[in-house]
Amino acid sequence: MIPVNEPLLDGNEKKYLNECIDTGWISSEGPFVKRFEDGFSARVDRKHGIAVANGTVALEVAVAALGLGKGDEVILPTFTIISCASAILRAGAVPVVVDSDPVTWNMSVEQIEPKITPRTKAIMVVHIYGLPVDMDPILALAARYHLTIIEDAAEVIGQTYKGKPCGSFGDISAFSFYPNKHITTGEGGMVLTNDDALAAKSRELRNLCFTPPRRFIHKELGWNFRMTNLQAALGVAQLERLDEFIARKRRIGAIYNELFSGLQSLQLPAKETNGASNIYWVYGIVMDDSIPYDAFEAMKRLAELGVGTRPFFYPMHSQPVFHDAGLFRGEHYPVAERLGERGFYLPSGLAITEEQQITVSQAVKQLFT
Ligand SMILES: *Cc1c(COP(=O)(O)O)cnc(C)c1O
Repeated sequence: MIPVNEPLLDGNEKKYLNECIDTGWISSEGPFVKRFEDGFSARVDRKHGIAVANGTVALEVAVAALGLGKGDEVILPTFTIISCASAILRAGAVPVVVDSDPVTWNMSVEQIEPKITPRTKAIMVVHIYGLPVDMDPILALAARYHLTIIEDAAEVIGQTYKGKPCGSFGDISAFSFYPNKHITTGEGGMVLTNDDALAAKSRELRNLCFTPPRRFIHKELGWNFRMTNLQAALGVAQLERLDEFIARKRRIGAIYNELFSGLQSLQLPAKETNGASNIYWVYGIVMDDSIPYDAFEAMKRLAELGVGTRPFFYPMHSQPVFHDAGLFRGEHYPVAERLGERGFYLPSGLAITEEQQITVSQAVKQLFT
């Protein structure tokens, strides 16, 4: 079976992990945490980095640090991971969704303004599958309506939009270092911001809101969302290779593009937008309506041919858990719904070989030609 994702861990990972063990620093108190925070925030051109346990909680910290709560509305794409909507809901705020662009699969920027109400407080921008959202019109809306931007840049580590790093556009931004991201710490995430107060708040929230002068006297509730020194050691080693990894991902994408050129029945990822060329977080494909079955069936058939796959996101407005809570009833977003039914992604992790890609393409062509 060709796995859908396999990370590359053959740089300084072992050396730095050994340092943790040799020195005994394995908790969040160890020196790699700050090194990773400083290195990563510098790379994304932000003043502060707050390392956390994963990308999901990075979003929770971001929403909580902004003080979003009861009655506040946050606009986000329906085509995303549940972590985005759950961070908003857990803060007591209301997720308001927009459909996707059929070519880039990113949030439809034109649909944002009609959803703005007097209760709208923020836009949660999520860059999907390696191509950045068109930020200029969103920044203009945020300025006009005094909205905060939360940027989920988990799928665009190392990507830029018009020459500026993704993750540097939000008032606060969130990253994940899960093993399928461009760099990994196993589990892990980071909150980035230029705002001193938001950074201080994020650090408190990450660490149970222990605050001076007396450590065990609390004025607010936080979480233990700390990243360990072991995870951060991996992060420092991975960050050293980010440029190489981006180049490698672009090459993986270019090889699939070449192998699938002329295949009419599949929509391939967009190679570029006005602001960037794709860094193929995953290599997604969308089946044409002429194919008489859905992605679920296609993935089953590919598994029988030895090819691992994963489905696309399933839209937030179609989630049973939200319908049960009275959200999104009767709402429809046809582009995202179609992506959820007909889209899935192919093996495209950093460790994949060209031979494996050729094997994958032969199986895909067997199904779709
Ligand atoms: C991976 C991902 C997350 C969640 O990260 P975890 O570390 O798995 O919790 C959040 N948002 C997006 C867009 C992601 O791709």
